Amino acid sequence: MRALIQRSRALLVLTVVILLAVAFNLSQTPVLKVMSIQTTSAQSSSMAAAPTNILLMDWEGPYGGVPPFDRVQVAQFKPALEAGMAENLAEVERIAKDTAAPTFENTIVELEKAGQTLDCVQTIYGVYVSTMNGPEVQVVQREMAPRLAAFSDQITQNEALFKRIEAVYNSPAKAKLTPEQQRLTWLYYTNFVRAGARLAPEAKARLSQINQQLAGLYTKFSQNVLAEEDGQFITLKTEADLAGLPQSIRDAAAAAAATKKETGAWVISNTRSSVDPFLTYSDRRDLREKAWRMFVNRGDNGDEHDNNATIAEILKLRAERARLLGYTTHAHWRLENAMAKTPERAMELMLQVWKPAVARVHEEVRDMQALADKEGAKIKIEPWDYRYYAEKVRKARYDLDQNEVKQYLQLEKLREGIFWVAGELFNFNFTPANNVPVVHPDVRVWEVTDKTTKQHIGLWYFDPYARAGKRSGAWMNAYRSQERVNGKVTTIVSNNSNFVKGKPGEPLLISWDDATTMFHEFGHALHGLNSNVTYPSVSGTAVARDYVEFPSQLLEHWLSTPEVLQRFAVHYQTGKPIPQNLVDRIKRASTFNQGFITVEYLSAALVDMKLHLAGDQKIDADAFEKATLAELGMPDEIVMRHRTPQFMHVFGSDGYSAGYYSYLWSDVLTVDAFGAFVEGAGPYDRKVAERLRKYIFSVGNTVDPAEAYRSFRGRDPRTEALMKKRGFVGNEKAAKQ
Ligand SMILES: [Zn+2]
Repeated sequence: MRALIQRSRALLVLTVVILLAVAFNLSQTPVLKVMSIQTTSAQSSSMAAAPTNILLMDWEGPYGGVPPFDRVQVAQFKPALEAGMAENLAEVERIAKDTAAPTFENTIVELEKAGQTLDCVQTIYGVYVSTMNGPEVQVVQREMAPRLAAFSDQITQNEALFKRIEAVYNSPAKAKLTPEQQRLTWLYYTNFVRAGARLAPEAKARLSQINQQLAGLYTKFSQNVLAEEDGQFITLKTEADLAGLPQSIRDAAAAAAATKKETGAWVISNTRSSVDPFLTYSDRRDLREKAWRMFVNRGDNGDEHDNNATIAEILKLRAERARLLGYTTHAHWRLENAMAKTPERAMELMLQVWKPAVARVHEEVRDMQALADKEGAKIKIEPWDYRYYAEKVRKARYDLDQNEVKQYLQLEKLREGIFWVAGELFNFNFTPANNVPVVHPDVRVWEVTDKTTKQHIGLWYFDPYARAGKRSGAWMNAYRSQERVNGKVTTIVSNNSNFVKGKPGEPLLISWDDATTMFHEFGHALHGLNSNVTYPSVSGTAVARDYVEFPSQLLEHWLSTPEVLQRFAVHYQTGKPIPQNLVDRIKRASTFNQGFITVEYLSAALVDMKLHLAGDQKIDADAFEKATLAELGMPDEIVMRHRTPQFMHVFGSDGYSAGYYSYLWSDVLTVDAFGAFVEGAGPYDRKVAERLRKYIFSVGNTVDPAEAYRSFRGRDPRTEALMKKRGFVGNEKAAKQ
């Protein structure tokens, strides 16, 4: 929905604007594009007074233009976003008011061409919000977020525009369009309908009211969680409080204490990155319990930041909105255009995995209990013991030390590794592009070309290091989508992560998990780079939410191929490839603790879905969660990965509401798809790779995902491979070694 709305900005006078911009550039006169198409008086006054807003200019330079990251001023975001929105609304108005009979060309294609200025502004704004954030950016964010949301509503509620889209959708001429054009038309139509375009005026008004109320409640929910994460922490005062903690955790706790003004102490913050490592290593069971309780009760403390009432309100409004739109429940509305299509199918998959995962948890607990008993701990394993004893079992059973593995995983060598894999699978070649402006000196850019034809394919930006103002985690971002409706437009994609920069001149060593993430994000990048479609709305990664993680999770499999390990996982001092014995230990440990990982995740996904299937009843979140988990047979030793009062995916926005199952759904495809290589000539089987490119990586959203998968695999996905990968069937022995 969101992606399409962002694309559905029309500009009938696009060519005129580009010509104007060129003319003004030639005469060195600053110009605000949108002003120039509104009124003559506005144009002349703005030209006299406004300084150049680089954000509103066409991207210049090589490769069809690149983002002008070297000339951005934060103060220019607000006027640029305003101008972009105004221009886009004017474009939409022109399309809606066209007196010619609606056709695919004069309606859908024009919508696809529209909104380019706003797209460019939002791209750079997005990069600043996620990687260059600070007080100045936050002020803009607070003001512009609700306005950007209201702007989207204005477009979907444009009745004349929808009438034209509907006419194209219902026209007999549609049958003559290409399959991509037909799917694009369907996407526009269905997304407008799903956003309420067909409702009567009173219903539309109510819908709009609900959306605004929900936006307020999402903000409130998020701020409550943030307040508890910021406001609560555990102070460790003595050496005894630090028992078991490795130096890296002590250092982080000391740094956290400094920001909380707790001098001479150590602080465990109320966030996952702080609490999880503490639960893994702290020998102090009393403090583990304290930290665990603090973390799992965020938003659930019966105080001014308690989220239970907010959740009830959100669920009520979502249920009302679903009914207004003609759906049984919010879950049915959300899943309609996902690959799963119905909540029932998503539930079926989750429950299929649930039972063996729970059985595995009971085994894991038995193993941990045995170890605790052997140590004479005299305890019964509780949730605050799980990570601690799991780590002990891992070391004892697999003899696996993360620090030993790390010595073979150099960031830059692995980057060469992903380039090599892209060359083998997709015939891509990467060369440094030093003539491109970047947002920060740490960012580097590569040009991607076809190895055989030498043709330009796109650009890949790499922003690997953590810095102040950069959001945590790792992600891919498309700065420009591949398309052919505005000429031959090539894509610009980026990978972002948060490695702590090494000492100058020394190679940066990363963990196996981080290396896996690097392959994952590069998988998203390759999904964008392989795109070969006509229309921007269906380009690259603009696919269903429960399908988008499939290409990225798939790429993770290539890290552990012998070809990659032997060439690129080489010791940072000796240059020798990682020994087979160590690789074997990593592989053997791969199904370890999968009971915990799966149940922790699935319990949250199941509660999410059940909450949104519950319909109209008034819901007490705490009671509902408790009853649902009891009914499912949730093991006592585990808590949901995100308990309801802090479930940001689900209540911080509509984002993953009734959609947390998506990660599992995508993983079924991932594991089953890799099987096609295994059944063939291996991970570098050219024929299978070509099918992968043709049916999965290049088609964007031009094909129904289930159909695309069938074309690639020759059948529907099966869950057996997933169960095996997680160690739930077939290789119990291996998992127990
Ligand atoms: Zn991903």
